[in-house]
Amino acid sequence: MNNIRVRFAPSPTGYLHIGGMRTALYNYLFARKMDGACILRIEDTDQNREVEGAAENLVKVLHELGIDFSESPIIGGKHAPYTQSERLELYTEHAQRLLNENKAYHCFCSPETLDQMRDEQQAKGEAMKYDRRCMSLSKEDVQSKLDAGTEHVIRLRMPDDRKFVFEDIVRGEVEIDADQSDDQVLIKSDGFPTYHLAAVVDDHYMEISHVIRGDEWLSSTPKHVWLYECFGWEAPKWVHLPLILNTDRSKLSKRMNDVAVESYFERGFLKEALINFVALLGWHAADDREFYSMDELCEAFSFERVSKSGAVFDQTKLIWMNGQYMRSLPLEEIAERAKRWFNEEDTKDESRYLKMVEAARQRCSLLPEIAEYAANFLSRTPLDEENQEMISSEDAKKVLEDMHNRIVDIDISDADSINQMTKDSIAATGIKGRHFYTPLRLALISQPQGPDLPTTLQIIGKDEALARMKRYF
Ligand code: GLU
Repeated sequence: MNNIRVRFAPSPTGYLHIGGMRTALYNYLFARKMDGACILRIEDTDQNREVEGAAENLVKVLHELGIDFSESPIIGGKHAPYTQSERLELYTEHAQRLLNENKAYHCFCSPETLDQMRDEQQAKGEAMKYDRRCMSLSKEDVQSKLDAGTEHVIRLRMPDDRKFVFEDIVRGEVEIDADQSDDQVLIKSDGFPTYHLAAVVDDHYMEISHVIRGDEWLSSTPKHVWLYECFGWEAPKWVHLPLILNTDRSKLSKRMNDVAVESYFERGFLKEALINFVALLGWHAADDREFYSMDELCEAFSFERVSKSGAVFDQTKLIWMNGQYMRSLPLEEIAERAKRWFNEEDTKDESRYLKMVEAARQRCSLLPEIAEYAANFLSRTPLDEENQEMISSEDAKKVLEDMHNRIVDIDISDADSINQMTKDSIAATGIKGRHFYTPLRLALISQPQGPDLPTTLQIIGKDEALARMKRYF
C-alpha cells in the first residue's frame, strides 16, 4: 500500500445513479491499479434529501457490482467514522477556526431577504450572488444577534480579484475567476455543514490524494482550492470526469428508471456488462478494445485515456453488450441468475433447466427474456397468424406425421438415433431444409427458430412432444 488514497463520496438519495457508478468505478480501478486505498464516504449532511435506508442500499449495490472498498462505514478504517453526520463536531470546529481568522463570517440574512436580493439582481441583469451585506457587521452586532438566537449561516469569504488556476489530470490547467464564486455557505442554519466544507475537511483528514468526481463539480473546485489555502493544507490532485449524455447529446436523463443502477438489475442486465459498458463511458484503451473483465479493466485503466468531452450513454449498445455476456459467461452462472424469473418448479430438473437456458441464451439479450423464451418449452404457446398458416400446409402435415410416427419408436435420450431418424424422414418425405424444420419447431416450441432437434425433444419430453405434433395433422 502506498499513499494513493481515493474516495467515492455519494449523497444517499435513494439509488445509485449511473454517473455515480462510473465515478465509483473509476476510483476503484485507479486505486487497484496503483495499489492504493479506495474509500467509501457517505455525505449525508443535507437533511432534506435524506432517504431512509439509502446508505445501506448504496453499499449493497456497489458490492453487487464488485466495487469494494478498503475503508467504509461498514468495515470502518483508521479515519472512521465514514458517515458525515457522525463527524459534525469536526466541521463546526473548522468553521470556527475560519471565523477566528476572519476567513469566514456570520450571515443573518433570512431566506426572504436572499430571495429579494436575487430578484433585484436578476432584474438588473447582474450575476446572482450574495451581496456581502453581513460581512461588514461589527463584532458587537454579530454577538448581540447570536445572543438573541437569530438564525444564521456561516459563509466563506472568497477573495476578490483572484484567478484560480489549478491542474486537473483530465482537463489540464483550469482557470476560473474568483468572482464567479459566491461567498459559499459553510454551515447552514440547522448547524449542519454544506457539502463544500465537509468534503474538504474530510478529504484532508482522510488523507485523500486524488479527488475523482463528475464534471459538475469543476465549477466548485475554486472554493475547495481556497478552503485548502485558508486552512494551510496541501490540496489533493483533481480529476473531473466528463459528463454523461443521452444519445441526442443532452445531459443524461434524470428519470430514475433510466439512470438507477438498481433498475438495470431489475431489468435483467448483468453486472459484468454494466461494469464493462460504464467503464467505457469516457475512457477507452489505445486499441479501442471493447470487452473487459473487472481485472482487465484494473490493468488497462488510466486517466490519460479519459476524454474531456461528454460520453454518450447508448442503451442499445448496452443491451447488445449484455447479450454478448449472456452467451460468454459460464452457463451455470447465467442459469443461476435467470432463476428468479422462473417458477421454482420449472428449474428443479437441473439438466433440463440448463438445456433450456442454453437454448434460450443464444437468442436473448436480457435475463428475463430467457424465461420468456423458455416458456415455449414449458407450455404450449399459441401460434401467430403467419405461423399458423405455415403449419397448416400439406407439406408441414406430412413432415409432422412422419416424424411423429418415427419418434414413437425411438429412445430420445440418444441424440444419434434422433439425427438418423431425421435423415430417414427427410429421405422418405422428400421435404428438406426450412420446409422440414420450421413446422417441427412451430409444433414443438411455437417458434420458427430454436435449438437442434435432440435438445428440443429432450427438454420437452417424449409424450409432450408427440402430443404437440399430433395437434397439426
Ligand atoms: N457528495 C457529492 C456527490 O454526491 C460528492 C462530490 C465529490 O466527489 O466531491 O456527488
